[in-house]
Amino acid sequence: MESRYNAAAIEKKWQKEWDERGLDKTPEDKTKPKFYALSMFPYPSGNLHMGHVRNYTITDAIARLKRMQGYRVLHPMGWDAFGLPAENAAIDRGVPPAQWTNQNIAHMKGQLQQLGFSLDWEREVATCAPDYYKWTQWIFLQFLEAGLAYQKEAAVNWDPIDQTVLANEQVDSEGRSWRSGAIVERKLLRQWFFKITDYAEQLLNDLDKLDGWPDRVKTMQANWIGKSVGATLEFPVVGMDDKIGVFTTRPDTVYGVSYVVLAPEHPLTPKVTPKSQKQAVDAFIKEIAEESELERTAEGKPKRGIPTGGKAINPFTGEEIPIWIADYVLYEYGTGAVMGVPAHDKRDFQFAGENNLPIKTVIIPEGGDANDPLDTAYVEPGIMVNSGQFDGLPSPEGKEKIIAYAEEKGYGKARIQYRLRDWLISRQRYWGAPIPVIHCPSCGIVPVPNADLPVPLPENVEFSGRGPSPLAQMDDWVNVPCPSCGEPAKRETDTMDTFIDSSWYFLRYPDAQNEKEICEKDKVNDWMPVDQYVGGIEHAILHLLYSRFVTKGLRDRGLLDFDEPFQRLLTQGMVQGKTYFNPNKGGKDKWIPSASVNPNDPRDPQTNEPLELCYATMSKSKGNGVAPEDVISNYGVDTARMFILFKAPPEKDLEWDDADVEGQFRFLNRVWRLVADFVGMDAEKKSKKKLKDKASLTKEEKNLRRAIHTAIKEVSEDMEGDYQFNTAISELMKLSNALSDFPRKESPVYREGIETLTILMAPFAPHIAEELWHELGYETSVHTAQWVKCDSEALVVDEITLVIQVMGKKRDVIQVPASASKAELEQYARESEAVQKFLEGKEIKKVIVVPGKLVNFVAM
Ligand SMILES: [Zn+2]
Repeated sequence: MESRYNAAAIEKKWQKEWDERGLDKTPEDKTKPKFYALSMFPYPSGNLHMGHVRNYTITDAIARLKRMQGYRVLHPMGWDAFGLPAENAAIDRGVPPAQWTNQNIAHMKGQLQQLGFSLDWEREVATCAPDYYKWTQWIFLQFLEAGLAYQKEAAVNWDPIDQTVLANEQVDSEGRSWRSGAIVERKLLRQWFFKITDYAEQLLNDLDKLDGWPDRVKTMQANWIGKSVGATLEFPVVGMDDKIGVFTTRPDTVYGVSYVVLAPEHPLTPKVTPKSQKQAVDAFIKEIAEESELERTAEGKPKRGIPTGGKAINPFTGEEIPIWIADYVLYEYGTGAVMGVPAHDKRDFQFAGENNLPIKTVIIPEGGDANDPLDTAYVEPGIMVNSGQFDGLPSPEGKEKIIAYAEEKGYGKARIQYRLRDWLISRQRYWGAPIPVIHCPSCGIVPVPNADLPVPLPENVEFSGRGPSPLAQMDDWVNVPCPSCGEPAKRETDTMDTFIDSSWYFLRYPDAQNEKEICEKDKVNDWMPVDQYVGGIEHAILHLLYSRFVTKGLRDRGLLDFDEPFQRLLTQGMVQGKTYFNPNKGGKDKWIPSASVNPNDPRDPQTNEPLELCYATMSKSKGNGVAPEDVISNYGVDTARMFILFKAPPEKDLEWDDADVEGQFRFLNRVWRLVADFVGMDAEKKSKKKLKDKASLTKEEKNLRRAIHTAIKEVSEDMEGDYQFNTAISELMKLSNALSDFPRKESPVYREGIETLTILMAPFAPHIAEELWHELGYETSVHTAQWVKCDSEALVVDEITLVIQVMGKKRDVIQVPASASKAELEQYARESEAVQKFLEGKEIKKVIVVPGKLVNFVAM
């Protein structure tokens, strides 16, 4: 055996060998329990970064462990390959999106293979491949048939210079187009939606089933769904038949309403506006149209609004109140109108203060006074005042009474509302799955027949970044006969949001090459749900929510027989790098790339000012990244993995530290020498025998066995549930120290220790573990070896010898802790296999325990 650890050589060798042996292929043998380990698949941007490596290393360690624990493991990988960057590359550099994407995939796949992940590449998927997006389109048609897909008008980002719709990512922080620099406008267009709101209640309730998810992710999802219980109340417009519907969670404050606010886009806005106010209202609407939804609703931003001049009636008081429009009310959300209760809502309090609107107290704290001036809104429950017949009621009770009264009088209805809105899925872009419908002048919307799927993305497309989406400019693609009547018709030119592609990919891996179906029912229901999903917290809301929704939708179409796609979720922390910044500079300029800094005397290369150091998430803009390939070429894959897993618990941020990387490299070298020395020992002296007579072990041997089995116990426990890789690796270090210190290398216990350490290391440092395993004389892979079991007897400290008798006859002698109580002694005795044989079929009449000596069972 080589005396020196040569990571590059053994990693290459084993990656080739594993591939040839088909080690990473998914077993079909259903006698074993299944385990589906999944990393969130990457966008093929061109290069793997350290965040990817961390994510996939965590999943890989789990997959390898589970395989050794006797599971059949599915551990696949794919590419979330549609989306804007490919299209931008086409506009900027004239590279066709498919070419750009496929080149990136090829490069990144090579990087993943170099990292030796135990991925089943036969199941690779790419969402931009026709044999994948065929099924994305099929799901769309399933949802269309189920009434879960529909069209309605919605606001999009409009670039008035290039005359094109922009994605949110193409609008900069100042609201300008990334390309033309024009101020982006909001424009209403017909858009496709998925009716996720139909599943709001289920998506909320089923969070309770997800025991293996971080609480904070579940809370984020619940907040996003945002269930609130309240009422819709109607305010008649003065002088018209129209009524303004508002939803409120606080009907108990309705007597304090001093105005109502419409969304500027609300269809009632022009109707309620008298001529005298028309000019001002139109100007305001135009101004608001330039703001994004995010800007309009941003916390802390002043709310802008103007009176329309129209008036409404508060049906509870009969009072006339002014109708306003304001930027913070969105037409797409709720009824597109709100009631203003400044005394009991913080935002309304601010708005009323800025616009001199009346503030009327209708809830007071116990012992409070309705005439006390308010310096902030009182939002807590309390006692109702100035509320007619409801005066004196506690407000929670008043809320119910007011809802009942509103229903009785026809002023409104009880209602549950969700913050969740329907999912806008259509994009006016090229690089996505075409929405598979045809618009026929006679038949309307006609689904493309399943047999005609996929609707292919045409090639030879011109990308100018101007005008309608590239697909809409392709006449020979757009113009097709109607599948229903055969008359000339037009294809839908919108493509689907890439979040749809990623909302079902995990269903494809169980049967990735199926050409006839999205997946065979038996296979998908066998492998799903995913047992362990690993990915970034940035996907805590949308990706996970959409995946849960699509799963439920397909379940209701009879394809799936489970409710939730991901049993357990691990959201790994970020990878942070040493980051230099110039404290005298602001904005993006303050970050100074590490490459241009002398670490011994860090100075700004432009100004020569001294720099400060912090840790920040690795990014191009900060120039603080560490390239995975550099670490691999310096130390090898296994060192990188060990560092990543050891440096921080998986869900916490990880600070990249070269000294700690070096530390892991030294540890692997120590283990290498330990095994090399053992393998190099004289064949005569080296023990090949398995341990038999545990009772005759010396004290030193017992101590080493205790260290070995403590390591097994601790590592196995750390790898259950929360995956504490960092403490598991500490245990490996302790065991390696115990082995180094042990003097009698020819003892069978020493061999047991060396082999155990090799097995325990396999999930973390798979290549070196495999090499050592073979040097120890094994032909088969360490990754198919059985995970080691803890011998609890070996953990016992300060033992005594306990004689166990059945009917006065000695049947077994065991080692037990000296400190064991009488009850514990009896329990140890009952657990003895030898004794159990003699007790079989008999009834124990009496147990005699002589502490420190013996246990005797009287049984017949
Ligand atoms: Zn037709």
